[in-house]
Amino acid sequence: MRKWLENLMRGRYGVDHLGRFLTTSSLILLFVSLIVGSTAGRLLWYLAIASLVFAYYRVFSKNISKRYRENTQYLELKNRLFSWHSKNVTRFKQRKTHRFFRCPNCGITLRVPRGKGKIRVTCPRCKNRFVKKT
Ligand SMILES: [Zn+2]
Repeated sequence: MRKWLENLMRGRYGVDHLGRFLTTSSLILLFVSLIVGSTAGRLLWYLAIASLVFAYYRVFSKNISKRYRENTQYLELKNRLFSWHSKNVTRFKQRKTHRFFRCPNCGITLRVPRGKGKIRVTCPRCKNRFVKKT
């Protein structure tokens, strides 16, 4: 049995981060689709099956470089979402004490304390100067 499995998996891609994400989310989708019912539930069910099929297709795929690229893209997207999210959490926590805005010249995000009236800001990156109300 073990030998058979080894032969089956030889040269195949296997499970990666994207694979685990696909299987987990398809199980969640399946569960949700059972609760929702009706047309929306059926759509979710199809989506769950599709992502499960794709997950298994990836596990047994022999095109390893392509699967590897997919996984890298998935990880990059996940990182971007996480950093975007934590940035928003920080801003929300500091919303009463600080103001956030972009430098009109280079686009970098700046943070200044609130309630100081009009202040002259010097951008730490491009040294552009401008006036902002806080
Ligand atoms: Zn700037």
